[in-house]
Amino acid sequence: MEKRHFETIAIRTQMERTAQKEHSTPLYLTSSFTFDTAEEGAGLFSGEIEGNLYSRFSNPNTDEFVEKLRLLEQCEAGVATASGMAAVYISMVALLKTGDHIVASSAIFGNSRHIISSILPDMGVTHTYVDVDENDQWEEAVRHNTKMIFVETPSNPTLKTADLTFLGEMCKSRGLIFSVDNCFATPYLQQPSQYGADLIIHSATKYIDGQGRVLGGAILGKEAPVKKCYDFIRRMGASLSPFNAWVLSKSIETLALRMDRHCYNASKVASFLADHPEVEQVIYPHREDYAQYDLAKKQMSQGGGLVGCEIKGGAERGASFLNALNLHSLTANLGDARSIATHPASTTHSKMSLEEQLAVDITSGFIRFSVGLEHVDDIITDIDQALKKSKR
Ligand SMILES: *Cc1c(COP(=O)(O)O)cnc(C)c1O
Repeated sequence: MEKRHFETIAIRTQMERTAQKEHSTPLYLTSSFTFDTAEEGAGLFSGEIEGNLYSRFSNPNTDEFVEKLRLLEQCEAGVATASGMAAVYISMVALLKTGDHIVASSAIFGNSRHIISSILPDMGVTHTYVDVDENDQWEEAVRHNTKMIFVETPSNPTLKTADLTFLGEMCKSRGLIFSVDNCFATPYLQQPSQYGADLIIHSATKYIDGQGRVLGGAILGKEAPVKKCYDFIRRMGASLSPFNAWVLSKSIETLALRMDRHCYNASKVASFLADHPEVEQVIYPHREDYAQYDLAKKQMSQGGGLVGCEIKGGAERGASFLNALNLHSLTANLGDARSIATHPASTTHSKMSLEEQLAVDITSGFIRFSVGLEHVDDIITDIDQALKKSKR
């Protein structure tokens, strides 16, 4: 078969039709599957016969979702999880053991940081945090017992870019597991497997769902590490529900269309903010004033749907700006059709001390926009009026 494009794979990867000849994917809400004979049951349990046995292990809806994402990320294997955090957690605990060391970028999703800082140490796994954009720091942090590199790019919430080529080569030459949280970019904009990533982590809750309705996650990557994660999940039970898998697989059909518009709207919002006198600084990976513009251009086909900015007036202004927004939602999610504004210092990253926040450039007036799919003029009008209204 000829190699198909992203959009076609996203729409046409579908489980085999049943005798009903349904056009769209049906939903298999069943916890278990039956065996025709005792022997078939025995074969399914031993693994000699391939097939569905129990929905904690596999389900047609979950399999379709994983297969689609696997093809889009161009990976060997994949497994779905109940949430993005289950994917992050399992990718670490299924592959690390007491005595191991992990190097992670410091500016990552708050709960991922909590796992590395507070849960892994109790299991005897130590860590070092580095600045995502400082290649020297990554290199210096690797020790004799380092097993894994964990990175988010663009990073959360300050949208810094990791040099995937550098990290991929470093991990290969030192025999490290290279794990990338690709939630912000999605496989439509960036494919970490092309840089040698062993594991690609997704919170499907974000752009993959795209409408803020269900939680879900996935671990994609090379056969051996993904198999370990799968074995772990099928026993400890953080499997994705068939219903959520059905929603997410359906959502992926429009991922490319939605990302194109998210990126278009976000770049317009970034330009508006950059020209605004009440804004100190704008961070958007495909703007020429972005610190790592060349790298971001190389790694991501578009700039993404998130925009960061520092508004004048610090924490108080940040809060009054959020309160003055009418259209934007104040909520913890991102990657939704609805535009969202977040003040990380007081919400998503509030568990970090002020010093830790500043070390990863989360300043008191930093606002992160998840630019949605409403008309871009309405999004900008809302930001404009809130900047005026919140003026000191
Ligand atoms: C939201 C998010 C997660 C966690 O995903 P959930 O689905 O909320 O559990 C992990 N990484 C990143 C970058 C995220 O934005």
